[in-house]
Amino acid sequence: MSKKFKFFEQVNRSFDRAAALTDHDPAMLSQIRECNSVYHMSFPVKRDDGSIEAIHGWRAEHSHHKLPTKGGIRFSYLVTEDEVRALAALMTYKCAIAEVPFGGAKGGIKITAHKYSVAELERITRRYTFELVKKNFIGPGVDVPAPDYGTGPREMAWMADTYTSLSAGELNSLACVTGKPVAQGGIRGRVEATGRGVMFGIREACSVKSDMQSLGLSTGLDGKTVVIQGLGNVGYHAAKFLEEEGAKIIGVAEFEGAIHSAEGLGVEAIMAHRKANDSLLDFPSAKNLESSAAALELECDILVPAALENQITEENAPRVAAKIIAEAANGPLSADADEILARRKVMILPDTYLNAGGVTVSYFEWLKDLSHVRFGRMQKRFEEGAFRRLIGALEARTGQSFTDAEKSMLTRGAGEEDLVNSGLEETMANAFHQIRATQKRYGDHATLRDGAFINAIDKIVLCYDHLGIFP
Ligand code: NAD
Repeated sequence: MSKKFKFFEQVNRSFDRAAALTDHDPAMLSQIRECNSVYHMSFPVKRDDGSIEAIHGWRAEHSHHKLPTKGGIRFSYLVTEDEVRALAALMTYKCAIAEVPFGGAKGGIKITAHKYSVAELERITRRYTFELVKKNFIGPGVDVPAPDYGTGPREMAWMADTYTSLSAGELNSLACVTGKPVAQGGIRGRVEATGRGVMFGIREACSVKSDMQSLGLSTGLDGKTVVIQGLGNVGYHAAKFLEEEGAKIIGVAEFEGAIHSAEGLGVEAIMAHRKANDSLLDFPSAKNLESSAAALELECDILVPAALENQITEENAPRVAAKIIAEAANGPLSADADEILARRKVMILPDTYLNAGGVTVSYFEWLKDLSHVRFGRMQKRFEEGAFRRLIGALEARTGQSFTDAEKSMLTRGAGEEDLVNSGLEETMANAFHQIRATQKRYGDHATLRDGAFINAIDKIVLCYDHLGIFP
């Protein structure tokens, strides 16, 4: 990569392109694109060998038009202030697109997680949380972190525990962070939510006949060939759910390399192979590619970059052969790559929409923590009784009996995970048709990314109007 990648500038290029299509007040637009507050901290951590290391961390709150602000915490040696600002901005637009009532935020700690012991990671995470508490950058009504690249339920449990121990008597303290283990106030379905949402988004896009015809594809996921970059939380779950819907995973890339098989690879078998061999290379019946990045250029229907930002740039974009690019990661396409691929009429499902499943289910978790009751707890048994009475009445009227298997399927009441997944599906389906409708309204030159940004801008403007800030 020749030019230094400035992520926040790239996000703002997409914002400006879409904003230029609207007739909103330029002062309002410039307020929306700014990042409201950034906290950069550094603190010492004692390593297991007794040495002391200075750790750098950030939390950026991009927009306070709705509170709390919300966004993940990333552990990566690549974290910079520019990156957290950019990711916080994407969160603002994502929440608006998915109609999740939060402002956008993001945090990061500049570490390579696997170089630290679990005890060291716990000390780092707890100290980071303590620093956020000191500066009022965390709290159920203030700013609510979640998992992102390099973090998961374990780190969220440490954060929730640290916050709770510093806020004695605060009834809603567990709602200070989402993505927690279920036993610590988490919600069923959150771990898989982003990947499941990616599948719902792709499935919805592939259900529109005219769009598929113009790409030379049939409708539906069945038989679609898919390449995935990154087999972490988002990439693995997206691949798994796409495969369950009948798609064929023909290529997978991880940092150690990439594999390809036109016959399809089998996600669970790849995961088992990678665990056993510490690498996905040399997977039986697949071919190793010359580099990890080569997977991005494989012939396929759907390319799913699910690792990090800036993976497809003006350098490799001309060689991308996919018909649909599904941005499971945040910012995987540079703004130049986006324009090159849009000119080539590749369908790009934008990150601000496609990976919103994580924050959507985080919203459900936050609601659960505030209401102190599991979703479905009060109505599940009542629903089952009502379904049983209905079945009984049908049997009496028709004189025909249902089998036991049919009865148990028809009378099942919704549990927490059913409700979470159905709320997620509804959100992803609605948001897709909203952004597509906006794209169509602005004509052929507008992309789905423009549609997504315009919808987000319109919703945020409405919010400022109601606040009376821009009369
Ligand atoms: P993760 O740490 O669980 O997984 C990322 C995977 O990508 C890892 O397995 C890593 O080895 C791999 N990887 C890194 N560089 C690579 C490269 N150059 N080529 C191939 N593989 C590479 O992280 P995640 O939570 O799955 O996040 C992935 C992306 O999705 C990030 O952009 C993140 O911001 C975004 N995202 C995550 C969530 C969430 O709920 N976790 C929500 C929305 C968006």
